[in-house]
Amino acid sequence: MKQDVKSKYPKVQVGCLFSSQPIYLVGMDEEELVSLCEEMGEPPYRGRQIFSWLYDHGVSEFSPMTNIPKSFRSKLGRTARLETLELDRATKSADETEKYLWRLRDGARVESVRIPMRNVHGVKRWSLCISTQVGCAMGCAFCLTAKMGFVRQLTAGEIVGQFLAARSLLAEGERFHNVVFMGMGEPLDNFDATVKAVRILTHQRANGVSPRRLTVSTVGVASRLKDFVSAVPGVGLAVSLHAADDETRGKLVPVNRKWNLRALLDECRALPMDERRRITFEYVMLRGVNDSKGDARKLSRLLEGLKCKVNLIPWNPFPGVAFERPDDEHIEEFRQTLLSAGVFASTRISKGGDILAACGQLADARRLARGSAEKKFNSI
Ligand code: SAH
Repeated sequence: MKQDVKSKYPKVQVGCLFSSQPIYLVGMDEEELVSLCEEMGEPPYRGRQIFSWLYDHGVSEFSPMTNIPKSFRSKLGRTARLETLELDRATKSADETEKYLWRLRDGARVESVRIPMRNVHGVKRWSLCISTQVGCAMGCAFCLTAKMGFVRQLTAGEIVGQFLAARSLLAEGERFHNVVFMGMGEPLDNFDATVKAVRILTHQRANGVSPRRLTVSTVGVASRLKDFVSAVPGVGLAVSLHAADDETRGKLVPVNRKWNLRALLDECRALPMDERRRITFEYVMLRGVNDSKGDARKLSRLLEGLKCKVNLIPWNPFPGVAFERPDDEHIEEFRQTLLSAGVFASTRISKGGDILAACGQLADARRLARGSAEKKFNSI
């Protein structure tokens, strides 16, 4: 292979063809697969065929790729790998929610959760919640993942790999109706990999999920919001607000010290959102902290004029922190106050709490036990 190929196809790390390191195909987008095939002397459409095999069919071997010549399949098999993630443990909740602990190539572990949702007709549909980082640097006071600290970024392949591996565990004929990036980590703190994974999962020929049914939840990294919405238009955006004044938010969500409510909401107002989309503001309900009628009124004033909805998340408990979850009636009163002020609000029905699979309950127990927390917060 001539060296000048490198500059012609800068997106693929061509060097990997010459190195002893295997090329991991999952996580490559169509363009990269096309370049790779061209580099290996194959026509560009081979790259598109491989794209379909990887993401639409979800193959884990080269042999089923029957529209690809056997000789090229063996050549690929010598340099490239199709592995995704290894299932370390699956835990099933009484409500059918299932949590998967995946083992990554370097031994790190992340979790995904598949959640049964019923539509208005009572038909069961699966949602998948996936992680974008091992641990998290954001340090939100009420979140278990935060207690692990930041360990490392996930690659696009590891993010997409969670989807592929979880999909392979669905029963025949089932599919994921929704995908939410609400597992471990802060997606906008792993911007490039998150965008790439979203593009692959929502690609027409990936058999993933439509952009309308994919939502990315962010703590509110204000400086990256616009880039994100522009990079993946039409995808759902959820912003973790959790308080209606800077003093309270600053205590709950340390990133508020970098971008306060005003900065964050100004940025939200200016987002080039798809016409049919509203931003979702997530609001974790913590008894005596952010759940008063006054808080609800403040919140409604704060959101005035914004095309949005509020999603109230009753706090999911875990040991070792002093927060409490308000009771259901109180949460409903809070919601009613928002509704009467003209703010659309819903309450998230929590699933998988008995297996620590609900929002903010994901963590690698081993890392938690070791308490190794390398804080990365200041670098964002
Ligand atoms: N880093 C992203 C994704 C976090 S998980 C973000 O901050 O948005 C998705 C949502 O669950 C976030 O709103 C997060 O603040 C919330 N959450 C975290 N821990 C929680 C807990 N113990 N109970 C309820 N919600 C929690």
